[in-house]
Formats: sequence, structure tokens, C-alpha cells
Amino acid sequence: MRLDKVIEQNLATTRKEMKRLFLMKKVFVDGVAEFNQQRNVDSQLHEIQVNGQNLQTNHVYYLLNKPAGVVTAKSDSKFQTVIELIAKAERPADLYPVGRLDRDTTGLLLLTDNGQLGYDLLQPGSKVTKTYRATVNEMVTHEDISAFEEGIVFHGGIRCQPAQLEILSSEPSHSEVLLTIREGKFHQVKKMFLACGKKVTSLKRLTMGPLQLPEDLAQGDYRSLAQEELQQLK
Ligand code: URA
Repeated sequence: MRLDKVIEQNLATTRKEMKRLFLMKKVFVDGVAEFNQQRNVDSQLHEIQVNGQNLQTNHVYYLLNKPAGVVTAKSDSKFQTVIELIAKAERPADLYPVGRLDRDTTGLLLLTDNGQLGYDLLQPGSKVTKTYRATVNEMVTHEDISAFEEGIVFHGGIRCQPAQLEILSSEPSHSEVLLTIREGKFHQVKKMFLACGKKVTSLKRLTMGPLQLPEDLAQGDYRSLAQEELQQLK
């Protein structure tokens, strides 16, 4: 959250007072006088002091195990949304999902009201890795592993970045695989397999960057990120 917004929220300062606080060296982040009003700060990671008073940013960060049938959206006229899975009392107005999972995809989804963090994580250059477990409707082969490593080309010509495919089991009727990608194109995993003539029949996200889906987190449940997880994410 921007430092000037944190100060405004905590101290209800006018613009003039805000300017004065910075000019008079009254704003400290981790013990050092700060002059950049727009610096992004988080009281879970930084000590923010103004006139000797500690300020809080109060962002929320939830790790949700998304169930199938729920849409990754802030609102929807037809289906339940991931936001509605968060208890009303724990749901700030600007809570939103970082990235999206299809309605039938399950697994790890991060929700936060920290707009800057979500923006940073979704930047094409951020290269946040995501690992999915997928069931595919036929045999996945070592040729597929090589094709994913080289960069799958979608029908239509768009080339994906190299991705790591691991076969857990492979039979003519279906295969279980782990796939790690570093980008987030629309329906990316399903389209990658389609480009190889195969269909994903179930998809679950297991990791996103340093975050892992906890084994004991039931579908539809969520928990706040631990301090350590948040630090690794930033
Ligand atoms: N790729 C997909 O095809 N679907 C998802 O939900 C996530 C990644």
C-alpha cells in the first residue's frame, strides 16, 4: 500500500499536513526517514512510524483451495464467486483474486486487497512459476515432454515459453502429469495439451511462486498467508 495512503487512513491527514510530515522528517520506514510518499509499504513487513506512532496497513492475503463450479471473478450473475467463499467479516471491499482459474479448475488461488502486490505478480516479466496436476484423456509421451520444453505453439501461432512436464502415470485411456509454467495465458494448460491433440479432463493448481497448496486445506477453505510466505512472495 502506498505510504501516503497508509498515513491518510491512519491519521486522516490533509494534503498539506502530509507534505509537511515528509518535509519535516517525521515519516520513518524501518527506522530510516522516508521522503517518497508513493513508496509501497506493508506493516507486516515494515515498521512504519509517523511522529513516533506505529501505523498499520492491514492488508489481507488469503490462500484459497478453489473448488470446481466457482468462478474467479469479483461478481457473477449466475455462479458463486471465489470472493463469496470468504466470510463476509473477513472480506474487504477491494478483495480480488490474483490471476484466474477456470470454473472447473481446483486448487491454489491467492486473494488480496493489496493491488500493488497482485499487479507485480501478474506482470509478464515476473516469471512466477505455477505447477498444475492434470489428468489428460490419453497417453502422454516423452515426445510431449520435449515439445513442452521447446515451447508449445498454439493453434493460431502463439508460442509459449518452455514448460516442464513430468509424467506421473501414462496409459492409453488417461495420464496423470505435473506441469510447471512461467506465464499465464488464458486457458493456457488446456490449450497447450490441445496443441498436442490431447484434452485436459481435470486440472488442479498446486503451487504459485513460493506458495504451495496445503494438503490439509479442504476445497472451499482458505487461510491467511503466514508471515514467511508473504515475505517470500514479495
Ligand atoms: N490453465 C488452464 O487452462 N486453466 C486454468 O484454470 C489454469 C491454467
